[in-house]
Amino acid sequence: MQSSWLTELQRLFLALLFFAVVGGLFGRPFLGVSLVLLGYTLWTLWHMRRLEQWLAAGGEEETPDSSGFWGVLFDAVDRLRRRQRQTQERWQSAYEHVQESFRALSDAVVMINSQGMIDWMNPASRRLLGFDPRRDRGTQLTNLLRDPVFIAYFDAADFSEPLDLLSPVDHRIKLEVQLTVFGEGNRLMFARDVTRLQQLEQMRKDFVANVSHELKTPLTVISGYLETLSQAGVITEPRWQKAIEQMHAQSERMRHLVDDLLLLSRLESLPRAMNEPVALATLLREVANEVAAAFPGRYIPVDCDESLVLLGNAAELHSVFLNLLSNACKYTPLEKPVLIGVSVAGQGVDVSVIDEGAGIDRKHLPRLTERFYRVDDSRFTETGGTGLGLAIVKHALMRHDAQLLIDSEPGKGSRFTCRFPASRLHA
Ligand code: ADP
Repeated sequence: MQSSWLTELQRLFLALLFFAVVGGLFGRPFLGVSLVLLGYTLWTLWHMRRLEQWLAAGGEEETPDSSGFWGVLFDAVDRLRRRQRQTQERWQSAYEHVQESFRALSDAVVMINSQGMIDWMNPASRRLLGFDPRRDRGTQLTNLLRDPVFIAYFDAADFSEPLDLLSPVDHRIKLEVQLTVFGEGNRLMFARDVTRLQQLEQMRKDFVANVSHELKTPLTVISGYLETLSQAGVITEPRWQKAIEQMHAQSERMRHLVDDLLLLSRLESLPRAMNEPVALATLLREVANEVAAAFPGRYIPVDCDESLVLLGNAAELHSVFLNLLSNACKYTPLEKPVLIGVSVAGQGVDVSVIDEGAGIDRKHLPRLTERFYRVDDSRFTETGGTGLGLAIVKHALMRHDAQLLIDSEPGKGSRFTCRFPASRLHA
């Protein structure tokens, strides 16, 4: 198909030719050409004016009628305009749909612009945060949520973890606040009522703690009697002797489980460990001797600067290193090494328990510190672990503002690193 622009050029050329010939018949060919050019210029200007007026009216009026090049141009602009209107309507409807769903949410949703001012909020924001959609739009968010913990969280702009907050409307309501950055510095805030969830979580913790507590005394009594019975001479029949030994071993295992559950619930119920000075090298040597005694033939070297002193709870730190070192020895054959290395990393200190034992497949690492998570059930039965060791380690470290980093490769060994921040190092 020929372009309308070329057709227009052809038409102009034919008109010029025709009028040049007609003008030539009267001996004035240039007059004919000039008349055509003048007429064409006026016609073009008129169409330009129509286009301008039509566009100035927002393109809302009827499309101007015309033939040839200008007709094609008007139709093309009209098509573009219609397509743009459809896109705009689609966006508008999507936007309204999103707003409608946010409005229906029982969680508070607040949109904050790059200057930290509130742009939009849903009705649940009034119930959970005490915001008024009319009064508070355009207000700085931190003028409304004045809790210093929230202000620090908002200013730090690290929203990888949610923040627990008490509702400013009613302190019995516990909120979980999550912020997300979108566009150019805009933020979207979700606040969820987690009061009921936290109550259930507390009930679960109390239940486990109470049951463990109640089981502790009967288990100690049973285990004590079984130990007495299993001692030589009390029971003479070998069949019963074996049964009692097994019963004693299993009751001991249950006692460990109950002890671990009690320790875990104690760690969960207290927020932060205290700040007593703990000489690291002495503590690590104590733990290494204790574990080496439980694994005859095992030697555990400790490489630690004698001057390092941690601030924390000695019993909890003892439990951390005891669990890590016992695991290392449990999952490493005697001929392969197990050692403790300490290095000053950045401002803090890293305490690593290193072994060249069985190792752990990468896919298990993220879930390893969950309660009762086991890599391999048969390994678990063989070693007699409770599956709570690493959960205890993680909680005790959290109470010391420290992190547990796990690096492991099947067949090559593992490295469990406890990373303590500078604030936990005695100056
Ligand atoms: P458990 O009482 O079973 O040892 P833990 O919570 O201490 O429970 O450890 C969880 C699992 O992690 C263990 O069952 C074991 O499979 C794996 N694990 C822990 N430490 C090591 C290690 N040093 N080498 C290999 N596997 C390990």
